[in-house]
Amino acid sequence: MSPETPVPAAAPHGDNKGVLRVVQLYPRDMNIYGDWGNALVLQQRIRWHGYTPELLEYNVGDPFPDGVDIIVGGGGQDSGQLVIQDDLQARAGTLKDLAEADTPMLVICGLYQLFGRFFKTRTGSVIPGIGILDVETHGTDERLIGNVKVATPEFGEVLGYENHSGQTTLGSGVRPLGTVAKGTGNNSSDGHEGARYRNIVASYLHGSLLPKNPAIADFLISKAAERKFGSFEPGTPDDRFVGPAREHAARRPR
Ligand code: GLN
Repeated sequence: MSPETPVPAAAPHGDNKGVLRVVQLYPRDMNIYGDWGNALVLQQRIRWHGYTPELLEYNVGDPFPDGVDIIVGGGGQDSGQLVIQDDLQARAGTLKDLAEADTPMLVICGLYQLFGRFFKTRTGSVIPGIGILDVETHGTDERLIGNVKVATPEFGEVLGYENHSGQTTLGSGVRPLGTVAKGTGNNSSDGHEGARYRNIVASYLHGSLLPKNPAIADFLISKAAERKFGSFEPGTPDDRFVGPAREHAARRPR
């Protein structure tokens, strides 16, 4: 990783439409059930759209990179959340400024919870969140595990896999990503999955999420390009494997 590397300006013509810098948050401690695949999908689709991806990792204690265009972060055990909590608090201001400046972000499960106000674990310890998302999470004795289908207004049917004990409720400052058609989602009572705020997509779904739901990847990339270059010029991604991956995921039993 070389966070000090300056981001080159966009090339005006040709295949290289400019660099988009993706920062993966805490992959060492927060990365389960295939979440790393989200960063790889962003990297490849950025390339297919004719931009140059730069994929950086940010782990506990690292200098925070400059020039961040997209943030992606995964889930983790409660123990992983405890490992990152102090460092995350130290980065709260930076992440909040990026979020309020409309930086596109994808946060899954454990980081979704910690982008909220707090996660009170099953054993009663409270892990403070960074309050970017108006949500709160309470651990329960029930583990919500299985394949999920979500009807979303922005990205069509979203498919993924959930495995969490925390149940999240949304405040009025966010809207749900969608409505659960199979599985549980945010909690066992209101039928909602995930949260949307500015250009942030938060979700409980692993699997990885983005290979089966490239509409979300392209949303993040298009927002990043618009912010940085003023517009997004799509390329032609190779989507041959998306259909079979979605059909396979949709057929999986609970
Ligand atoms: N530890 C959290 C929970 O169980 C998050 C789990 C996850 O990221 N899959 O609710």
